[in-house]
Order: sequence, then C-alpha cells, then structure tokens
Amino acid sequence: MVESNELIFEVSQPGRVGSSLPVSDVDKVDIHEKFPEHLIRDTPAELPEVSELQLVRHYTALSNKNHGIDNGFYPLGSCTMKYNPKINEDVARFEGFSRIHPYQPGETVQGALQLLYELQEELAEITGMDAVTLQPSAGAQGEWTGLMMVRAYHEQKGETRTKVLVPDSAHGTNPATATVAGYKAVTIPSNKDGLVDLEELKKHVDSDTAALMLTNPNTLGLFEKEIVEIANVVHEAGGLLYYDGANANAILGKTTPGKMGFDIVHLNLHKTFTTPHGGGGPGAGPVGVKEKLIPYLPIPRIEKANGTYVLNSNYPLSIGRVKGYYGNFGILVRAYTYIRTMGPDGLRQVSESAVLHANYLRKKLEPYFEAPYSQICKHEFVLSGSRQKKLGVRTLDMAKRLLDFGYHPPTIYFPLNVEECMMIEPTETESKETMDAFADVMAQISKEVEENPDMVLSAPHTTVIGRLDEVQAARQPVLRYKKEESAEKELVKA
Ligand SMILES: *Cc1c(COP(=O)(O)O)cnc(C)c1O
Repeated sequence: MVESNELIFEVSQPGRVGSSLPVSDVDKVDIHEKFPEHLIRDTPAELPEVSELQLVRHYTALSNKNHGIDNGFYPLGSCTMKYNPKINEDVARFEGFSRIHPYQPGETVQGALQLLYELQEELAEITGMDAVTLQPSAGAQGEWTGLMMVRAYHEQKGETRTKVLVPDSAHGTNPATATVAGYKAVTIPSNKDGLVDLEELKKHVDSDTAALMLTNPNTLGLFEKEIVEIANVVHEAGGLLYYDGANANAILGKTTPGKMGFDIVHLNLHKTFTTPHGGGGPGAGPVGVKEKLIPYLPIPRIEKANGTYVLNSNYPLSIGRVKGYYGNFGILVRAYTYIRTMGPDGLRQVSESAVLHANYLRKKLEPYFEAPYSQICKHEFVLSGSRQKKLGVRTLDMAKRLLDFGYHPPTIYFPLNVEECMMIEPTETESKETMDAFADVMAQISKEVEENPDMVLSAPHTTVIGRLDEVQAARQPVLRYKKEESAEKELVKA
C-alpha cells in the first residue's frame, strides 16, 4: 500500500503515448537540410511516456498538494493574500474581453478600451492622483516605472540627482528598484516606535535626493503620523515622494497617498484588488502620478475624445512603453470588476475590516509572542519569536510547524529590523472562526516550544516533503525531468 500523501513520480512505460494526432498530410522534410548539424539530436529526448489520463492525474495531484487561498488561511504579511471573488473570473472570461487581440483597430474594441479608461479614472480617485498608467505588470515594475519618471522629471529641469532614500523597514523591491534605476539607495533608520526617524531623514535629504520611497502604513503595519512633515522635508529639497501602495487595504476610502503629499503611487492589483497572485504572476502594478509628472507617463495612453476611446502616443517627454501591448488585460478586468462590485462604501468597509481583523488577531497572539510594537496597527502587524529563540526554537521552525495544521505561515524574517520576525496579515476576508482557530494553533505551538520542542524542530510532519535544503535548492535547482532519478524522487528520499 502506498501512503495517501506520497506522490509517485515515475509512471513512465516505454511506448505509451498521451496524444493521438491525425496522419500527417504534408511532405516529410529532411531535417539535415533545414537545421545545422549541432542542433540535431542523435537520440530522442527522454521524456516520460504516459497516457493523457495519467498526465492529467499527475498535475491534478500536484495542484492538490498546493496551498492556496481557496483551500486555506494564508496570513502572509506585506503580500495581501485575500479572497478573489469568482465573479471576477466570470467577467474576465466574457468573449468580448477574452477573445480580442491587442492589435485590433481601436474602433473594434471600444468596450475593452472603455474598461481600461474607467479603471484608470477609478484608481486615480482611490489614490488621489491625477493620472494613471495600467502598463506595469508587477509592483516592482511599477516602482521602476515611477523612478524612471522621477529621473525624466529632474532631467527636464536640468538636474541630475543620484540618491533615493528608503526606510530600513521597506520592502526589498524598493532598494532593488532604486539600484536598477541607476540611483544609490540610502537607508533611513526607523525610530523606536517603528516609524521614519524624522531627524535622521533631515540629515540625509539634500539637493542630490531624487526621491523618498515610502509605504504608509509601513511594513510594520504602523501609520507614519508625521507623513505631512516628511513630505515637506523632501519637497523643500526638490525631491519627490514615491508611495509603495502594494497593499492598500488599510487606506481604501479612508485617505489617499495624494492627500499625504505623495507624487507617485503604484498599486498591486494582484494584492489589494483581488486578482489572484502567487507563483510569479501574472500581475498588474498600475502607477498613478500628480499633474507635474503626467508628461512622462508611459505611452500609449488611453484617452477619451468625442465619446470614443483612443490610444495616444503623442507625448514626446514620455519615458516610452514599459510593457508589451497595454498591460495584463485579464488582470485589469478582474480588478475593475472588483471595484465596481464593491463600490466606494464596500471599499471603505474593506479597510475597516482589514484593520479590525489585524488588531483582533494581534491581541489574541500577544500573550504568546513578543510584540515589539504593541500600539494599534493597520492591516498587518509584526511579532517576534525572540522568546522562543531563547528556548532553542526559531521562527522558521514554528513556520514549518504551522504547515502541519494546514496553514500557510505568515511572512517571516521580514521586515529586517525586527529580530525573528513574524509578519501577519489576516485580511478583511477571513472569518472570526478562522482567526480564532489560527490563534489557538499558534498558542499550541508556543506551548510545544516549552514542553516538546522536538515536535517543532522536526516539523513539518504531514507534508509530502519535509525540510528542504533551501540553500541547495536555490544554488543547484533541478528543473528538468530526468528518467529514473527524477529530481523530486531524490528530494522525497532526502
Ligand atoms: C509585493 C510587494 C511589492 C512588489 O510587488 P511585486 O508585484 O511582487 O513586484 C512591493 N512592495 C510591497 C510593500 C509589497 O508587498
């Protein structure tokens, strides 16, 4: 008998095929005439030989082993994993949206262009910006698009600025983007309350500062109360303010980056606006800007003229196109559907519930874990596993133990300024029962750390694969099927 959670990878049988193609009615060509010799194989590729049904079962079994928001709680801080309403999927599959081509003449896809135009308008209102581009296909690409506009803006004024300031609690993409965009990323330390240290900021802001990149509420889930003052300091030196709005759950309908003094914003539609994410995409990272940056927006821009929607590339100062076609259209349809089904009141309720849930769960967990910042939080909060570390169990071990209970662990070891960090975001879509059950399991794990640490140190116990050698997996990934000794088999053995 095979254990039910064991995956059998090697089911290949010589000669078995999973396809039945019709007899070819085109003439055979001599492959040696068409291709250079060094590209031609001597022997056929060693692919698994399986029937179609075996193939389907293999991938279905794999997908069932996957954890996703549709089969369990996923409290991943800073990466908002919330429910994706299924109506979004229905609408994205409408023929008028799914069976069109980006090279069709504009007059034949007016509905699609109208949707893009209206989504731009809605996102501008939600963020308090004057115009929006939908092109960038991820948050990180939105950041890069934003900084390219910052550069264009300063160059147009005859200025060359070299520094981008980033708080130490920032998401890793922020300093990475600043570097890729050709700036020097300068870290601003947080103060003891987990907020931007205004005095430190003042020391670093000068005529060389291109921008400050900030998330508010920040990745500790805390609202930067001095944001207006922070904005003034940067603006007075001629710098711009960039808002990382990947997770905007806490501010929807309550305030806007525009009101806080920001000049540029990106949103992750694949976090805040419910389109699915994980596994590398596809995503969408629209960018909104204030009036003074409109000339630099990517082209083509979607505009409305005399009741028709048109694509306009006539912007000589534009930074150009940042993505093929007009963005990840299917994702944009899902976000549009979400915004229209929620309406302004629904979106406001999102932020109220997201904040309430985070504080409820924070309070339930505080008896068991160190809380470095125990003031009221916004949509997420951080705890530290420092108490458990003293007993020889690390946050990573507790994260692995959570898998045994069917939960995806929270974000761990980020932000970097908190020791043994756990960053938890329950989101507005979870029920009280789910949060209570999660809190009970976390309490149980903290008890195990004291009474039976081996149970936690050797977790997970119920998954197909136990602890991976993550360093080796990253350095020597095995990405190719090899007959007999498939990579996965080796991992199972290990
Ligand atoms: C997820 C995230 C990003 C990056 O978004 P991607 O779409 O993964 O590129 C940037 N900033 C914050 C705060 C995030 O949570």
